[in-house]
Amino acid sequence: MTYKISEIFDNRCLFKGLSTPFSFEISLETHILVNFLNFSKVINKQRGHDFMEKVRLGKTNLYVHPVGLGANAVGGHNIHPNLDEAEGKEVVRVAIENGINFIDTAYIYGLGRSEELIGEVIQELGNRSELVIATKVGPKMVNGQRVMDNSPSFLKAEVEKSLRRLKTDYIDLLYIHFPDEHTPKNEAIGALKELKDEGKIRAIGVSNFSLAQLQEANQDSYVDVYQGHYNLIHREAEKELFPYVLEHNIAFIPYFPLASGLLTGKYTKDTEIPEYRKNSQFFQKEVYDQIVEKVERLRPIAQSKNVEVANIVLAWYLAQEAVTAIIPGAKRAEQVLNNLKTADVSLSKEEIQAIDELFKLD
Ligand code: NAP
Repeated sequence: MTYKISEIFDNRCLFKGLSTPFSFEISLETHILVNFLNFSKVINKQRGHDFMEKVRLGKTNLYVHPVGLGANAVGGHNIHPNLDEAEGKEVVRVAIENGINFIDTAYIYGLGRSEELIGEVIQELGNRSELVIATKVGPKMVNGQRVMDNSPSFLKAEVEKSLRRLKTDYIDLLYIHFPDEHTPKNEAIGALKELKDEGKIRAIGVSNFSLAQLQEANQDSYVDVYQGHYNLIHREAEKELFPYVLEHNIAFIPYFPLASGLLTGKYTKDTEIPEYRKNSQFFQKEVYDQIVEKVERLRPIAQSKNVEVANIVLAWYLAQEAVTAIIPGAKRAEQVLNNLKTADVSLSKEEIQAIDELFKLD
């Protein structure tokens, strides 16, 4: 049996922003080594990130630090009130300067403002080739209302605008943010495939698709990444989506990993809920008390590892086979630095199981 050596080396080469430099065939012995490296994600999960820092996004040639940055609080004025744009840019800068290379944004975050601010930081830092920038298109504003449009012409036009705002000539990962009701999924994905062939995007993602919609979108195996709502208090994705993405080598990226901060351990039964969180689904009184009680039970594990509860929660996701990387959001640089510590947290099998039991789906 032979194997292409490029498949071994593209890990390391791509980490340094180089494309795979060579490709030739090798023997069975080396095949064993390849298999070993292919299991590196599993090993990585067991040992922390010291063995191999970055993980591969499904079948793509994109490699990301397992802890990314969710950037809806960077310029996302329509999502979070009173955002400070300078602070948002600092969040992105600190993330990148400290090793995060996976930044998640979308048109809808500030109607392009998040992309613009991220574009400015990337230009200032000058390390575009080392980054994996994910953005999302699909929604548009019509008379002040969000309307979904997955038509090929709309998606393609939106990508051009995102490229300009991000000040780049390629997007690493482009998601369809939400499905619309009328466009056949293979036509929408077909448009993204054309963009990929043109070099304007490097990987194809979908978000908020049901399993049936994902199956339809993935008819030709073009879907590389799925982004969905998943956290310890919202685990429905485990039932149908996880088996599907695992079977089809699609990376799963959970959003709302911290349930908008509720899973960080900073809330107690007595906390005065900030006004801007009061309408959030996670902060409704009837479930809030039960959640904070469970979260509190993670504190001894966090203390034993000298980290925050947020790190234990985030590490638990990374221990799930289907989850490739995480994109916790942050409003301040210190939150980014704290979340980044997750990469050094190693949970034992018993700890993973105990957390699983604690937050088990009914
Ligand atoms: P999240 O990651 O669950 O929570 C982030 C919030 O938690 C932060 O804004 C901050 O808010 C708080 N926080 C973060 N780190 C903390 C720490 N170490 N200690 C204490 N508090 C901390 O929610 P999210 O940002 O909405 O979701 C993550 C990302 O997923 C987004 O940024 C976005 O990129 C993506 N997303 C995608 C979709 C989709 O439809 N595809 C939907 C939602 C989100 P406070 O300071 O206000 O507490």
